[in-house]
Amino acid sequence: MPAKFIQAVYSSLKQDMAALAAKREKTGKKNGKLKFRSGYNAIELNQYGNTHRILFGNDGNRNGKYRNTVHIAGIKRPIRVFGMEQIPGDAEYANAKLMKRPSGIYLLLTCYVPRDAKRDGKEEKPPIGLDFGIKTTITTSEGDKYDISVREPERLKGLQKKLARQKKGSRGWYDTKHLIRREYEKLCNKRRAKANQVYHDIVTGRKLIVMQDENIKGWHKGLFGRQVQNSALGTLNAKLSANPNVLVVDRFFPSTRMCLRCGVINEGITLSDRIFTCRCGYTEERDMKAAKTLLLAGKHKRSCTLAGRKCPPEERKSDFDTSYEIWEHSARRPEKGKSPEAPSSSIS
Ligand SMILES: [Zn+2]
Repeated sequence: MPAKFIQAVYSSLKQDMAALAAKREKTGKKNGKLKFRSGYNAIELNQYGNTHRILFGNDGNRNGKYRNTVHIAGIKRPIRVFGMEQIPGDAEYANAKLMKRPSGIYLLLTCYVPRDAKRDGKEEKPPIGLDFGIKTTITTSEGDKYDISVREPERLKGLQKKLARQKKGSRGWYDTKHLIRREYEKLCNKRRAKANQVYHDIVTGRKLIVMQDENIKGWHKGLFGRQVQNSALGTLNAKLSANPNVLVVDRFFPSTRMCLRCGVINEGITLSDRIFTCRCGYTEERDMKAAKTLLLAGKHKRSCTLAGRKCPPEERKSDFDTSYEIWEHSARRPEKGKSPEAPSSSIS
């Protein structure tokens, strides 16, 4: 392996350590002892033209001898790559990553493509609120429901049973293990595709997206473990959290119970109630109502941060705004460690 690659591995390791330390500092969370890794399956190719080179396209050789081939430093012969047709002719190549995955070896290539005017000029959409649930999983304040569950393939179960029967360390055991890894890779791809699709649907064209800081890790452990694991929820949540247009409302905000018209908190709502009904006469489907309430809370929060000190001026303040402020200032939040009540209010 060329020294350059080893250097890249070393520097990415250093970067990861720095990121870990920074995260520890910021969140105060502990991380365990570092463990030994026996394998490494990604090589960073960080200098186009030097570490790797595509032998077609910009070189005007798309159909020539080196069709669909890539040159990688340290390997003398050009390497054939499938799927090159996905790269537009006017793309500018940048760094790449050579990855070994259970189903084969992949080249992840970063390209720069000239901006598409049609894509940039996409219409702007109004702000939206999102309620994360388990069954339908995501409900928007506009009433759309996204089912983001991805089912575990039947084959995986069969393979796992087979593995359990086989002698550990035997040839067949390793073969089965490899097949299981491939199935997991497929599952992961499906999940990611789903998350990307829903993310795109929700986020494109929006300046404000409001969601609640859900305790997904807690769900994994608890009652809903299986269902959460079988969905793209975690991936989607990470993507949304990284978006600057996404506003996150406190985990303990009673989005299900607070009425969005009069601001009263209706304690009587239980997990089985599908319809929200308030004393003031407001009635709405439960999940959509939660999403709408979140959107209002988000708008309120946004206007506070934009305007400075005084939140919406008194004359424009609605009952909901007042109620939200009261909730925010009251120390109603459960203490750390005992929070079974709050997350369950947002589930369902
Ligand atoms: Zn009400």
